[in-house]
Amino acid sequence: MADLSRLVPRMRPHATTIFGQMSALATELGAVNLGQGFPDVDGPQELKDIAVAAIVDGSGNQYPPAHGLLDLRSAISEHQQRHYGLTVSPDTGVVVTTGASEALAAAVLALVEAGDEVIVLEPYFDLYAAIIAMAGATRVAVPLAVPESGTGDGFTLDERALAKAITPRTRMIIVNSPHNPTGMVLSRDELEAIARIAIDNDLLVISDEAYEHLVFGGAKHVPIAALPGMFERSVTIGSGGKSFSFTGWKVGWASGPTDLITAVRVVRQHLSYVSAGPFQAAIAAGLRFPDSYFSDFADDLQVRRDLLSAGLRDLGFDVLPSDGTYFITSDIRPLGHLDGRSFCDWLVRDIGVAAIPIEALADDEVVFAPYVRWTFCKRPEVLDQALDRLSVIRQGA
Ligand SMILES: *Cc1c(COP(=O)(O)O)cnc(C)c1O
Repeated sequence: MADLSRLVPRMRPHATTIFGQMSALATELGAVNLGQGFPDVDGPQELKDIAVAAIVDGSGNQYPPAHGLLDLRSAISEHQQRHYGLTVSPDTGVVVTTGASEALAAAVLALVEAGDEVIVLEPYFDLYAAIIAMAGATRVAVPLAVPESGTGDGFTLDERALAKAITPRTRMIIVNSPHNPTGMVLSRDELEAIARIAIDNDLLVISDEAYEHLVFGGAKHVPIAALPGMFERSVTIGSGGKSFSFTGWKVGWASGPTDLITAVRVVRQHLSYVSAGPFQAAIAAGLRFPDSYFSDFADDLQVRRDLLSAGLRDLGFDVLPSDGTYFITSDIRPLGHLDGRSFCDWLVRDIGVAAIPIEALADDEVVFAPYVRWTFCKRPEVLDQALDRLSVIRQGA
C-alpha cells in the first residue's frame, strides 16, 4: 500500500475503496468488471446535445449561480412534487451539488458536530464512513438483519438494533434506499420504524436516494421525507448520474426544508463552490422527462437483473432478491465458500470476473462474510461473458 504516514490518522482507514481496488485489478487482469457500478451504455443523446450546446453557445462556461442554475433547481422542485408529492422551494429548499457524493459530504459536515454519533445501516456505501470521519464524528453501524440461508428472503431492517443504538450523542441517521450494496428497497413499514425512532429521539435523517428511479417489479420508492413528521428533519439526496446514466457528469442535489438546506448550502459553497454548468442544463431537461422515460429505464435494467440473477442461481449461488439499484447480492455458501473477500480475490485472478465482497462495506465482517455484490448495469453480452467464465465454478465445484 502507498505511504500513508503523512495522512491524518482519522482518514487512514479510508485510504482506499474496494471499488477502486477491484476495478484496478479487473483492468490489470483483463477481468469482466461486475464490481463497480457504472453503466456501459450512455444516457439519452438529447441530454448530451443540451450539454454540448451550453458549451458551444457559451451559456454554460462561466460560474453558474452558487446554489445551482435556477432552471435545474426548479426542475428538482417539480420532480419532487410530481413523483412524491413533496413541496420544496427552488429558491430556498434545493441545492445543486457535484454529484450526490458532495451533497452527502456537505450535509454531514453542515449538520453534525465533532463528537456526535451518526448511525449508518450496514453494509453501507463506503463514502459515508469517510465523510463521518472528516466531520470528526463517530460512526455507529447498525447491521441489517441477514436472511436465513436458502429461504429466498433478503436483508431487512433490525428495528430493535436501531433503537438500541441511540445514545444521547446520536445526531443523525443516514438512510439509503434503494440500497447499495444489497439491492434492497426499504418497505413502508421499515421506513415508518426509522421515522418513529428519528422523531422520538429528535434526530436528523439524510436520505440517500441516488437510485430512486431504479426500482423493479412491484417495489415502490418512498422518500422517508414523505412520511408524517419527517420532512422537517430530512435532507433528501438525488443523483443525475444514476438517474440518467451519466455518472461522469457529477450532478447531484439535496432538497428539504429551508433551515436544513440553508446549512447545507453554506458548507457546500466552500467545497466545490459551484458545479459544472453545461451538465446542470442537461440534467434539468432530464428531470422533466415524462414518466415513461423512468419506467422504460427501470424495465430495461430489470431484464438485465433477471439475466444475471438466473445465471448466478443456475451456477448454484443463493441469490437474494434485488428490488432496486444496479446490484444483486448472492450468498456464496452453497458453492462451498465462506469468505467473500478471498472468494472475490480468487474470482478476479483465476476466473476473470470482478465482484465486490459485502464485508468490505461493513464493520461486522463476520456476519457479512458470505455475501458478494454483483452489478448488472452492463450490456447483456457482458453479463453473458461473465456467466460464461463463471461456469467453471459449477463444473469445478
Ligand atoms: C453512486 C452513489 C452515490 C454517489 O452519486 P454521485 O452522483 O456519482 O456522486 C451516492 N450514494 C450511493 C448509494 C451511490 O451508489
